[in-house]
Amino acid sequence: MMNMKITLLTGRTFDIAKETGINLKVVESAHARKLSLRIDAKSLIPILTVPRGYNYKKALGFIQKQRSWIEEQLKKIPPRREFADGDKIAINGTELEIKHCPELRCGVIIEDGFLKVSGEKTFLSRRVRDFIKEQAQKILYELSIEKATQIGFKINRVVIKDTKSRWGSCSTLHNINYNWRIIMAPTNVIDYLVAHEVAHLKHPNHSEQFWQCARNLAADMDFGRKWLKENGRRLSEYI
Ligand SMILES: [Zn+2]
Repeated sequence: MMNMKITLLTGRTFDIAKETGINLKVVESAHARKLSLRIDAKSLIPILTVPRGYNYKKALGFIQKQRSWIEEQLKKIPPRREFADGDKIAINGTELEIKHCPELRCGVIIEDGFLKVSGEKTFLSRRVRDFIKEQAQKILYELSIEKATQIGFKINRVVIKDTKSRWGSCSTLHNINYNWRIIMAPTNVIDYLVAHEVAHLKHPNHSEQFWQCARNLAADMDFGRKWLKENGRRLSEYI
């Protein structure tokens, strides 16, 4: 197989784990000028993009050379976990223990320090996640509007996303996106992230003026930044 010369067909993807010992996908792209390697944020599989008609054997050689880089990147990916009965989480600063209550017919409710989840155990994690996303949408929307008003800007949309590596983003169309997991961080961290994205409405860069604006909008920017750097990974574990 190693000696076989295979010209990739446009758009064709295939598994070359057998040849390289690495579970990796190759994607041929008409736009690519050179080989590039990245880890797909959703599937967590390394993707090698190759220019159209690239020599398969050369691509394999490239992968072999990048083996240690690939392994390093894969090691950096946090472990994945589902929400489970007994987990302690926080939603916008309120500490809660997840409690599976199969007998209840409440859906998901917050009561006496518990996040009570009815229904079958198989659906518990998904139900908790959906509930947290709903809360995130409401809370982050309100906080974003409040901060945007402070600097005289309007937000087009606030969208809750399932991003893996980014906590938030702000587009030139004034749409702000947040990773739903941020709502499980301490309130000052949530506050900082919102301040950061809202400040981008005014400064679409990371200039001196941007940071000053974010600092003015945040309750404690330094704490928020530091916390995210040190603990963000833990929140990212939840799928
Ligand atoms: Zn930024």
